[in-house]
Formats: sequence, structure tokens, C-alpha cells
Amino acid sequence: MNNDCFAMPPGVKWLPVDEAIYRIQSNLEPIGKTEEITLGEASGRVLAESISACRDNPAMSNSAVDGFGFSFASLSSKNELELEEGYIAPGIIPDEPVPMGKARRILTGAPLPKGVDTVQLKEFSKIQGNLLQFDYKPKKGANTRLAGEDITVGDLLFAKGHRIRTHDIATLVAAGIDTIKVHPRLRVGVLSTGNELLQAGSSSDPAKVFDANRPMILALIDKFGFTPVDLGMVRDNRKEVRAKLDEGASSCDLILTSGGASSGREDYISDLLTREGDLNFWRIAIKPGRPLALARWQSTVIFGLPGNPIAAFVCSLIFGYPAMQILSGQEWKPPVGFMIPAAFQKSKKAGRREYLRARSNKAGQVEVFGSEGSGLTTSLAWSEGLVELGDDIRQIEKGALVKYYPYSSFWT
Ligand code: AMP
Ligand code: MG
Repeated sequence: MNNDCFAMPPGVKWLPVDEAIYRIQSNLEPIGKTEEITLGEASGRVLAESISACRDNPAMSNSAVDGFGFSFASLSSKNELELEEGYIAPGIIPDEPVPMGKARRILTGAPLPKGVDTVQLKEFSKIQGNLLQFDYKPKKGANTRLAGEDITVGDLLFAKGHRIRTHDIATLVAAGIDTIKVHPRLRVGVLSTGNELLQAGSSSDPAKVFDANRPMILALIDKFGFTPVDLGMVRDNRKEVRAKLDEGASSCDLILTSGGASSGREDYISDLLTREGDLNFWRIAIKPGRPLALARWQSTVIFGLPGNPIAAFVCSLIFGYPAMQILSGQEWKPPVGFMIPAAFQKSKKAGRREYLRARSNKAGQVEVFGSEGSGLTTSLAWSEGLVELGDDIRQIEKGALVKYYPYSSFWT
């Protein structure tokens, strides 16, 4: 990471969202460490090296059905063959070849013996004594699986940086892989700042605010598949802030703080980070969200999110998630949204991106929450995703197609 990698580009007043994401992804690097794990622990882990196949799949050509195996070239014009005694079972290499003009029973998955290149399903076959007759002539090679047709030794299966999904595991096993080298699970610390904050449910003082951000963001990190680290809350007290940052830097790969630090006002967290942590404020052209603060404490990256829970949530998705993907060793893969007709009408300022709390309705349109009030936590609870209104859009009419990201598109 460069020393001034978080500095705003000269002359830029408002950073477009895409530019901010680009700067985040191009200035961060994966945490260097690796570890070896078994496939039982592989789901959700990020590969530290590419994986190539150690074994063909199938390892031997075998039958795809329960039926009769034979040589296609030896099938008579009447579709008849002589049925041999016995059968070929899966898991055993058959040592007796099947002679021309003859067929043998074979079970699904059983390796093809010498002399067999085609299998006919038992449902399309009749047996009279030792005479086997087929209802129709199968194609050459029918109902067989060829050795290596799925995977060949040496095939590149997954590239470095790929995050193992549940549906990748069968391929790894089939290719003879039992352990993989991965990046350690990213540890993301969450720290709330502000003198007004109270631990959830701890007092009835109406002047105080319950710390909603910390439990919400910790849960989000877990949902992303990383390890949340609860760093608690901190008041505007230099000693306390320093101790928390030290604790976070030694136990986390990334720290997300919320409140205070994003405003650049006189407080100890921004004061300390300005002096000792290369603090930078990015004024990003986004709503909701105010300047994002970026800093480093020792070598740990700190993102200062807005204090407002809605803005903190949106910024965690839009800026925190790409940062976590890169630090965890992944390629940055933008979430997949889709175009859906708006059930609302809205005008907006050009030159900034807006994210609206949204959900789809039964008519196949997307609705947005009635009020855009930034303090309404119920709007988050009501929503199932975000509508993204592009930087240059000024007006949305009912029925116009808008980009909708269900929240699940952030943690696939
Ligand atoms: P700030 O970014 O500190 O200026 O805070 C903006 C608003 O968000 C203020 O109303 C704060 O009280 C509120 N806020 C800050 N941190 C939190 C938090 N952890 N949980 C809930 N609200 C917060
Ligand atoms: Mg505050």
C-alpha cells in the first residue's frame, strides 16, 4: 500500500462511487498469510493458490445406467446378443472381457470391461433364456461415461483468489483433492465511537443513543463470511481511543469504525488518526453516506463509516465489502443487480449516486420506502435490497427500469 494511497486525487471535489471503489480495490492487497485446510472446512474460504486436478473423473469409463454392456460392432441386425452369466458391479475392476456377440449385466457406475463400449438400458431389453433382445438399436457409446470426460489430470479447476462455494466441493473431491491452501479468514473489527452512545438496552436516558451500528455491522461481516471482532464502543477520550486502536490493530485485518470520525470535527479519533494514522476524508458523491474516512493504525486499514445507521449499512455494503473481498484474497466481483420497473416516481440531483431502501412487490415492480429520512431504522427493516440510481439520472418515472440489488447479491 502506498503511503498516500488514500489521498483524494488532486483537484477532485466529489469522488464518484465507481472511482472510490476502484481506488479501494487498487490500493489494497490480500493479507499475505496462508493456511492448509481440509475440504470439510473449505466452504467460503479463499484459495491462496490455484488448484489443478490430481485424478481423472471418471477415473475409468463406466456405465451410466443399470443395463447390459456389449461391443456395439457385434450387435446383430436383429438387435440380439447372447446374455452371459453374472454381472459387473461398481467399485471393482472387471477382469473378464466380454466377447464379441455377447452381453453382460452391468450396474450404474461399474467400470466397463474390455469388449464393452455401449450399454443398453434394462427397461428397453427383453430376455428369453440366454437370448437378449433390444427394443431398438442404441447409439454407439450409449449410456457410458468416458474416463476423464468430466475432469482430466492437470486441468485447472479453480484459480487463486476463488472463494470456495458449496457447489464447488464435489468437483474438488472428484479431482482427488483433499487439502487446499487458503488465506486465513479475514478478521474485521467493529468499533463504535461517540459520547452519546450506550450499549443496547442498558439505560433509559433519553439523551443517549443505543449503539445500533456495532451489532448490525458485526452481523453483516458474519453474513459476508468473514470473522467479526467486537471492539466495543469508545468515547472521546484519547487514552481509550488509542488503546482500542492498538487492540484492533493486533487482532484484526481491517477495522470499521462508525460515528464521529467521518465528520472531521474536533474529536479524538480523527485527531489521533490525523496525527498518527494518515487520515484522509473522501467526499464521495453518494447518498446516503457522507465522507468516508480512511486511515491506518500500525498496518491495519481503518474505514470510518458515517454514524447514521442507514448510511453506515449502505457504506459497509458499497465500500466495506469490496475492501474485505480484496483483503481476503478475492477478486473484486461487483454484486449482480437486475433491472426491474419502478413502482415509484422520483427526481434526484445529477452528479451523485443514490441508494434507496427498496423491495420488490407481487406485481414484479420495485418499491422504495415512503420516507428518505436518514434516521429511520425501520426503513432498513422494511427493505430487502437497494435501488441504485446512477450518477447522471435526474428523473425516474413510474414503470421505468431501475437497478435493484437484493441484499443477498452481496453475500453469494
Ligand atoms: P456522527 O457520524 O457521529 O455525526 O453521527 C451521525 C448520527 O448517527 C448521530 O445522530 C449519531 O447519534 C448517530 N450514531 C452515531 N453512531 C451511532 C451508532 N453506533 N448507533 C446508532 N446511531 C449512531
Ligand atoms: Mg458521533
